[in-house]
Amino acid sequence: MRYEGTVYRPPSEAGSLIIQLTIGCARNTCTFCNMYKDKKFRIRPLEEVVEDLAMARKYYSRIKVRRIFLADGDALIVKTEDLLYILEKCHEYFPECERISVYGAPKDILHKTPEELKQLKDAGLDMVYMGLESGADEVLKFVKKGVTSDEMIEAGQKVRAAGMTVSITVISGLGGKQYWREHALGSARVISAIKPEYVGFLTLMIEPGTEMYDQYNRGEIELLTPHEVLDETELFIRSVDAEGTMFRSNHASNYIPLGGTLNREKDVILGQIETSRQRSNVQRHLNKESTDLRLWATEACLQAHIDIGRSR
Ligand code: SF4
Repeated sequence: MRYEGTVYRPPSEAGSLIIQLTIGCARNTCTFCNMYKDKKFRIRPLEEVVEDLAMARKYYSRIKVRRIFLADGDALIVKTEDLLYILEKCHEYFPECERISVYGAPKDILHKTPEELKQLKDAGLDMVYMGLESGADEVLKFVKKGVTSDEMIEAGQKVRAAGMTVSITVISGLGGKQYWREHALGSARVISAIKPEYVGFLTLMIEPGTEMYDQYNRGEIELLTPHEVLDETELFIRSVDAEGTMFRSNHASNYIPLGGTLNREKDVILGQIETSRQRSNVQRHLNKESTDLRLWATEACLQAHIDIGRSR
């Protein structure tokens, strides 16, 4: 296999074979994201992708590949006929494969007809990861996501109607102190309308090199303290109505791990939040330090990467 640049995948695809169908993100406008800033977006020639599948098969000749993730940022931008061809090749080289998944940008999903999505599902595209980030239009606009909450709902419902599994990511604290209520209530509205199989919460980490990092330094966004993030999550849990959706907030960026199945385990999740509040010995006046510490840690990590890069 050949990989170009840093390759990102959802945490649950840790054991998957990753094949780059596209390079980078076609939009690349989100102010908090620096994942694909170093890449110029393009769709790879299909023959190259098939060559990668052949190479992977040789490499994993004795290992069963159960899952394939088609990277990078938004594989659904690829024409449906080309996607169908690649899905067919995935199954040809890896007949044992049980799940193929992609990141799906809402606008790309909306450009596909329900019939096309059904065709993709029937050809083996089982799961779509969508970055909602926030269900509040104020926040989506502020972070330049380029999509509205209603478009998110339409896209998510379309993928679910095609029979695919949907996993949605929300970023705690993305609206800062100004929009935390809108963020919690708007995200609950979108998740209630889509009722995805999975919803995962990350917590905002402002990374150097992003537009949001500069906004933070200019004082244009005030980060939530850990306690405020809990308040925001609690408001989301109390407001959401998505029976059967698996809620997880256990990414490395989260202050505390939370999880349960909505709606029936809402009380369990609220109990986890309350227990965390009570156990926390962190005084509210230390919270500002905590957010500063988060930024400091990010800066330190980046510096370490730069130093390692220089020493190579
Ligand atoms: S968050 Fe997603 S859509 Fe936005 S720039 Fe990053 S990869 Fe692209």
